[in-house]
This record gives sequence, C-alpha cells and structure tokens, in this order.
Amino acid sequence: GDGVYEVVLILNGKLIDLDGHIRRLERSLNEIEIQLSFNLKIFEPIINRLMKMNFLKNGIVYIQVTRGVASRDHKYPKSVNASIVMTIKHINISQKLQKNGQKAITVEDQRWKRRDIKTIQLLPNCIAKEKANKEGAYEAIMIMGDGTVSEGSSSNVWLVKKNQLITREANFNILNGITRKAILKIAKVKNLNIEERKFDIKEMLDSDEVFITSATSIVTGITEIDGKKINNGKIGSISKKLRDYYFS
Ligand code: PMP
Repeated sequence: GDGVYEVVLILNGKLIDLDGHIRRLERSLNEIEIQLSFNLKIFEPIINRLMKMNFLKNGIVYIQVTRGVASRDHKYPKSVNASIVMTIKHINISQKLQKNGQKAITVEDQRWKRRDIKTIQLLPNCIAKEKANKEGAYEAIMIMGDGTVSEGSSSNVWLVKKNQLITREANFNILNGITRKAILKIAKVKNLNIEERKFDIKEMLDSDEVFITSATSIVTGITEIDGKKINNGKIGSISKKLRDYYFS
C-alpha cells in the first residue's frame, strides 16, 4: 500500500485534465515523501507514446508510483528509486456516455483519516464497491461516523436542491476529484449556486437530484439510493446539463 496513483480519461485521443491529475499525483507523492528524480512533465509524452503503440483513442491510463524495492520495513528506506507502472486500457465510451441513471447503496466509511491522498491502499473502497455490486448497484456512497456523506467508493457525490449544487468541501475527509474541480468551474461559469459543505443521508435522500463524478464515471446520475427513488427514478435536468457542458 506504500504508493499512490492516478487514472486519467482519454476521449478521442485527448487526455482529459492531465495537468490536474499530474498536480494531484505530485501532491500525493509529497504527502508520503516519495521523491521522483525527474520533472513530472515527462509523463505526457510517455502516455502519448503508450496511446500510439496501442492505437488507443478512448480509454484510461493508470499511473502508479510506489516507493521502490527495499527490504521489508515500516520506515521509509533511504535512497531507493520509486517504481512507476503505467497501463492503458480501452473502454467502450458510448456505453460510458449512456444517459441511464444508476442505483447506489450507502455503506459505512471504514477508511483512514487522510482520504485526500490517492493511495493504492483501496481495500475499504473495494469492499464497499463489491457490496454495491452484489446488491446490483453502481456505487457505494460512504457514510462517516457522524452520519454525513463523505464520498463514493470511487467518486465524489453531489446533490441538487432547489437549483443549488451541494458537494462536500475538500479537506482530509475526501479525495478532491479532478472531475469535481472541473464541474465546480463549469457551475461557476454557468452561474449556478454552489455550496461546498457537509450533508447527511436524509438530506441526500430528500434532494431533487443526486449525481456522482469521477474520471471514469464523468457525471453519472444516481436515481435510486438504498431502494428509495430520487427524482422519481429519473436523471435530473441539472445533472444532465452538467454532463453535456463537460463534453462541450
Ligand atoms: N473519490 C474517490 C475515493 C475516488 O477513488 C475517485 C476516483 N479516483 C474520486 C473521488 C473522483 O476523483 P476524479 O474525479 O479525480 O477521478
């Protein structure tokens, strides 16, 4: 688990928000004191080469940096070179862009207290996602000890209430999604009211619309949570608009 990662979406041969992902990778690396001996700008030409070699137009690139090879110890080893692995994967983008709403369940957030670091230690997220999968749901929305929603197992969660956008403020409690940042920017340009604050399950279930964002889910409408329909089981108009703006 001693490493961090990024997933970047590739649409029509273009890397979406690569700079934001590289900046977050740099931040995660700094937080756990992994130093790279080169400028992170080098990732872009290498990813482009990977895309060419694989004739890839739509998909994702996975970038993983771990501390490096050393004898097992809890302390950070001295003078070791970080290990970097990048893989690239085709995805069926038309399926991804489907407009259907998805189901979600709520689960207890069992993670640690530095969720802002994009660690490869994803076991609690995997357990949550598998529970959703077994229950026929797309995402597991994680609930903290105080009853508030932190985020999805691999996404950020948003509410729409009376035309107001609500999403949890970014601090140690959530991963500050690059898609989250992009949607915040779009919402500001479109003059939507935004509140970055906590909300609990009840507020979520009572809201007009719920959607999630991530590099791979982009903007995905959530139309049912724990068996309760949101917006009568239909994707809301603001969720739809934000998704369309993201692609325009
Ligand atoms: N939270 C968690 C826990 C995630 O794993 C992800 C996806 N990496 C996100 C939020 C969304 O981040 P992004 O928009 O950068 O993909």
